[in-house]
Order: sequence, then structure tokens, then C-alpha cells
Amino acid sequence: MQRLQDRVAVITGAGSGIGLATARRFAEEGAKVVCVDLDEPSGAKAADEVGGLFVKADVTSEDDVVRMFQTAFDAYGSVDIAFNNAGISPPDDDSILETGLDAWRRVQEVNLTSVYLCCKHVIPYMRRQGKGSIINTASFVAVMGSATSQISYTASKGGVLAMSRELGVQFAREGIRVNALCPGPVNTPLLQELFAKDPERAQRRLVHIPVGRFAEATEIAAAVAFLASDDASFITGSEFLVDGGISGA
Ligand code: NAD
Repeated sequence: MQRLQDRVAVITGAGSGIGLATARRFAEEGAKVVCVDLDEPSGAKAADEVGGLFVKADVTSEDDVVRMFQTAFDAYGSVDIAFNNAGISPPDDDSILETGLDAWRRVQEVNLTSVYLCCKHVIPYMRRQGKGSIINTASFVAVMGSATSQISYTASKGGVLAMSRELGVQFAREGIRVNALCPGPVNTPLLQELFAKDPERAQRRLVHIPVGRFAEATEIAAAVAFLASDDASFITGSEFLVDGGISGA
């Protein structure tokens, strides 16, 4: 019997990076995976690879979020795991003096409002089942700041962390666990784009990672699979750091 045998898992941002690695890991562990992404080619490819369903959805749209959980339920009869993971990093200088209001709002929409919408619309399914695991992707910056002046990004992830704690406590007695995943820097397209814009940034960041390297997405996926599983049955409302020691340094 595999750890996630027949659990129905919805993953947002499943077409790339951490989401894709987690879709693969969940499928290996026996889950039925619903891959959600705004980008159709990559999301559909991921779903095909893991033998799951693809739902094209924009996680900032309430209608889309409602539809993606409904699709999962209609296809498989439950929604056991929600990995609310889709996110963006700001396109430009994200320091407080440079970030414009539109850019700020866009980052909050994609990184924070989306998590509010996903939690709001998955919890009713989990309540009816009396069981569920929600993992929201925050970041180590939510715990300690970015040290690279990413004001809109850091604030959005701080919001995800606070919301996860709040919901973890509120729904603990109903069997619904809610945790904030806080990865350190992970070698994904999101990070590669940041470093392409500012190549020295990679070196500056590496200095602060005690293990001396960036994470691979598979290492984050392993932690997500643990949080999703019954092995984490006593873990809720937590900030789950997978950061190569950054926060301890
Ligand atoms: P990525 O860019 O590789 O993947 C993100 C995916 O989300 C893409 O497939 C993209 O199409 C999708 N997406 C973006 N906006 C969307 C929307 N509105 N609706 C639906 N899908 C959308 O990024 P990643 O590095 O895998 O990041 C995943 C999550 O992890 C993000 O929340 C990110 O902030 C967080 N995170 C990343 C790192 C890192 O170093 N890579 C560190 C900490 C936290």
C-alpha cells in the first residue's frame, strides 16, 4: 500500500518547477493527480505524464478555482489534498521605493489572493469528508525576509504563512490540516529567471545557504508528499521550512 494510495490531489502551478516535481512524486506514491496551470501546454504535459487530469485555470479567478475543485470531485469523488502552489516573482525591481501599485497588486493577487480562494473553495469538500491536507506554498522569506528587497513578494508570502496558521488552528478539530511550505531557493524556472536578470544575485544568495547549494524541486516535493500524507498527522498550522539551513544561520 503506497502512502498516498488513491488520494485525490489538486496541484496548482503543476506545469513547472515545484508543482511539476510534486505531481510526479504524488503519482509515484499512488495519488490521483489533478494538474492545474494557466499555461496549457506545460500543464497538459504534466497531467499526461502522471496519468492525471489537466485543468486550465487562473488561480486569481474565483470561477476558475471553483471549477478546478469541482472537476476533481466529479472525476474522482473526493478532494483529499490541495497543494496551493502557483506563484510568481515580481518582474521588476521589487524594492519599496521602486515597486508600483499595479505590480504590488498583481503579486498579491497571484501569490496570496489565490491561496485564499483555493482554501475557501476546497475546505467545504474536506469538511464533508472529515479529512484533508492543505499545503500552501509560502517561502523562507516569509519567516526571515529576503535580504534582497523583495517587498511585494515577501509580503505576499508572509500573508500565506499567517493564513495557513490561522486555518490550521481553525479546522484542526475537523480533521483538516493546513500547513505553509517554506522552501529556500529552489532551482526552477522562477529562480533561473531572477538570476538571468541579475547574475551576481545567485552568488550573493549562495553565500547564505549553509548546505552550499540551491534545492532541487524533487527535494521540496518529498516534503510536500510527507505533509500531504498521514505521516504528518500531528502537523498543522506550521511553517514547514525546507531551506538548506538558511533560517538557522
Ligand atoms: P515556476 O515558475 O517554475 O512554476 C510556477 C507555475 O505556476 C508555472 O507553471 C506557471 O504557469 C503557474 N502559474 C503562474 N501564475 C498562475 C496563475 N495565475 N494561475 C495558474 N497557474 C499559474 O515556479 P516555482 O519555482 O516552481 O514556484 C512555485 C511556488 O514556489 C511559487 O509560489 C513560488 O513563489 C514558491 N517558491 C519558489 C522558490 C524558488 O526558489 N523557486 C522558493 C520559495 C518559494
